[in-house]
Parts: sequence; C-alpha cells; structure tokens
Amino acid sequence: MASRVLIVEDEQHLAEGVRFNLEAEGYEADVVETGEAALERLLGAAPRYDLVVLDVMLPGKDGFAVVSELRERRQFVPVLILTARGRPEDVLKGFDAGADDYLAKPMELAILLARIGGLLRRTQWLRGPADRYTFAGRTIDFDALELTVGDRVLHLTLMEANLLRFLIGREGKAVSRKDVLEQVWGLHEDTDTRAIDNFLVRLRRYIEPDPSRPRHLVTVRGVGYRFIANPDGQS
Ligand code: CA
Repeated sequence: MASRVLIVEDEQHLAEGVRFNLEAEGYEADVVETGEAALERLLGAAPRYDLVVLDVMLPGKDGFAVVSELRERRQFVPVLILTARGRPEDVLKGFDAGADDYLAKPMELAILLARIGGLLRRTQWLRGPADRYTFAGRTIDFDALELTVGDRVLHLTLMEANLLRFLIGREGKAVSRKDVLEQVWGLHEDTDTRAIDNFLVRLRRYIEPDPSRPRHLVTVRGVGYRFIANPDGQS
C-alpha cells in the first residue's frame, strides 16, 4: 500500500510541487495550508497518514505548535519540519517539540524526497518483528514505540526511541553529545549540544525511579552520557 503523506504548507506553489513529486514517486499526498487544518486531519477519525511534511512559518498556529499539540494528544506520526530558519537552535526546538527530522528551506526537491524516504524506512525499521528490550523491570517496545514501567505504559516519539536505542546499543560505554547529535539527529554542524539534555531529562522522567539521581542514564562529566542496564552489577 502506498505511503500517505500530509503536506502542511501555505506557499501553494511549493506545496503543489512537493505533492506532484511525491505522487510521481508513488506516494499518496494531500495538502493543507494551515496548522489548524493539519490538526483536524491528524487528530480526527479521517485518513491515517504515514508521514507529515510540516512547514514552520504558517498563518495561525506555527509548525512548532502543531507538532507539540500532536504529541500532547498522543499522535505519533513521523513529522519532518521544513524551516526557513535553519539555525541549530530552531532545529533543536523542532526536535524538542517532537519532530523527527528537519530540512532547511529553500530545499532541493530531490533532497526532500530522499529525507521522506529515509524517515519512512527508519519508521519501518523501528517496527521490526519482536523488537523489544527489557532492563530492570522496564520494557521498551520499539514496534509500538512504548515503554512499560510496572503497570504504566508511556508512548515515545520516534526520536526518543532512536536516542534510547542508540544509548542502549552502547550499554556501559560513555557516549559524547556530539556523537548523539551526529548519529541520532544527523546534525553535523557545531551546535549547542546542551539541547540534547532536554531529551535526557525527559527520558529520565520515564525510566528513572528518582530522575534527580539517575542510575540508568547517567551523565559522564565532560563527555556526555552512559546507559547502564543494571546499576547494581547483577546481570
Ligand atoms: Ca510558510
């Protein structure tokens, strides 16, 4: 079945160009011009979308507000934001709001198509069979993007899941913020890496018994972080 993409873009000319190219690649694509219309489509009972291409500068609600509202309302469709302001602070603001990827405008259509394909593949990859990880009474289901702690079930965004997967894959090893930015977010610029700390604070709230004294997601001074599955040393 063709993947279905919602394009949220108020520049009609650009929106139609993106739609035309997506359809030529075999996707189904719809266009809406405002954040409000996007929320209506994505939060209503209407068609399910596999991905959203979301402009930041929109009349009314901007893209950042749209993606945070989606996440607050537990709608976890992958979101690629298009920002005219490609400054790292804006990019990280988008990720912090719950976006999964970004592209700075003006962009090449070929690059946009490649990023959309990549994001859809990553989503599929995360949804591999029986893709679970259990540690210290917590289970992460990378298929459902859910974290189970006791009888609580929390939903993760794609980036939260990617970040956890990255740290878990390096269990016991110190990982630098720069590595995280490059490997998880694909950002290679000199960025204020402290913005990643917001994600860590959130993940600690999810998995740490006492988030102010982390035992699983510990800070390694001057380096970055270390994931420890069993802080008591039993394996
Ligand atoms: Ca715009």
